[in-house]
Amino acid sequence: MNYQEVWQAALGELELALSKANFTTWFKNTYLSFFDANTATVAVPNAFTKTWFEKKYHLAILKALGHASSGAVKVVVYVVDARPAAPQAASDAPAENYQSDRPKAAEQPITNIFGLNPKYKFSNFIVGKQNEMAHAAAKAIVERPGTVYNPLFIYGGVGLGKTHLLHAVAHALLEKNPQTRVLYVSCEKFTNDFINAVKTGATREFKDRYRNVDLLLVDDIQFITGKKETQEEFFNTFNHLHQLNNQIILSSDRPPKAILAEERLLSRLEWGLTTDIGQPDFETRIAILEAKCKEKNFSLPPDIIHLIANSVTSNIRELEGALNKLMANCQLRNLEPTADLARQLLSNASAASGKKSATPKQIVQLVAEYFDLPIIDLLGASREKRLAFPRQIAMYILREDMRVSYPAIGVEIGGRDHTTAMHAYEKIHREKDENMKLKQDIDQLRAKIYSL
Ligand code: ADP
Ligand code: MG
Repeated sequence: MNYQEVWQAALGELELALSKANFTTWFKNTYLSFFDANTATVAVPNAFTKTWFEKKYHLAILKALGHASSGAVKVVVYVVDARPAAPQAASDAPAENYQSDRPKAAEQPITNIFGLNPKYKFSNFIVGKQNEMAHAAAKAIVERPGTVYNPLFIYGGVGLGKTHLLHAVAHALLEKNPQTRVLYVSCEKFTNDFINAVKTGATREFKDRYRNVDLLLVDDIQFITGKKETQEEFFNTFNHLHQLNNQIILSSDRPPKAILAEERLLSRLEWGLTTDIGQPDFETRIAILEAKCKEKNFSLPPDIIHLIANSVTSNIRELEGALNKLMANCQLRNLEPTADLARQLLSNASAASGKKSATPKQIVQLVAEYFDLPIIDLLGASREKRLAFPRQIAMYILREDMRVSYPAIGVEIGGRDHTTAMHAYEKIHREKDENMKLKQDIDQLRAKIYSL
């Protein structure tokens, strides 16, 4: 029997033992995430249910589990931060019997009981130059989890498909083996869980939960910056899982070096494979729009697809948003999709769009401010060391963090040749490991850049 079958059998017994109202209130939307001779780990939808299980149903659950299958002398309960699965997505969801009937929050992504979005799969992930490496690594992990790249560290700007890839690996592993113990959390959730565990003296449960998994996915790990205790706990969790060859995948909006954390943790983040996802090129944007149209059964003439792909260049989420907006307008207002309508909607969207990541110009400005130099000198021709060194640091950051091409860096930094940019990058890259002051300067600059 797999965990779900064991839990089904136990639920059958509990249902007979309890009133219908009680059973429905407490046992709906629960599942068994781990089960062995020692521990049964039960996932529940909220803290209230957790308390109730621990105080009131603890023994009844153990008894029912004991009848369903021998084993487990204690029950550990934890709260899954999952939103209800959409009915149409039920066939995708591994635990389809445990959908909640809580009302859906329209603006939140719909996730299944594992906290996974049923739509984020390999089958609808479009591969282009900018993400092919990350995609190939994710696929390789599905073939041989825990052995090929551990951890896999994927970084890139917002809306470029990091979360989609993380979920795709989890879905694929669950499809291969429904008993795979998957845990997907945002860094924020990891942090909150840890803080709560410390507060309530439940660190043992916390460890049970985070260490008894085959696949741990932590999204947006950059938020661990500056959280010392959480870093320590994550470090220990990491070591535990890594030693057991259990797979860890992390996403971040910046490379490991740009996260402010202790060196020993950062070095571990780079133990496996670090790969970035860049902005999609024109062909990929077209392919994504075509795929989304097909998925939504919405037909758009090629000139409009080109128009959208030309206007929204930085981010796949915005690309999708532009398409959705056009589709909603056509359907609700009963309009034909025309180039004029698309143009009008796109111009509204760009006017309203919010914060963007740092631009090369902002980075140059920050570096100039940091070293207290006039921009004009930083970009100028003088090779004086007090100017040349900060200039090289700026070029290094443009390359390392922003993935700007060498020729474009040359242009940005006062119209220099691309070989100058290459030389600067390599020089700083070499020196930063030996020069503590340089390393600190870069770290501090990064902290400023990423908090823009
Ligand atoms: P990130 O986590 O990097 O901010 P997401 O994974 O949330 O980005 O992706 C944003 C949106 O774009 C999601 O709806 C996702 O399905 C879609 N998306 C991203 N990359 C791709 C891709 N390569 N193919 C298809 N859809 C994608
Ligand atoms: Mg994300």
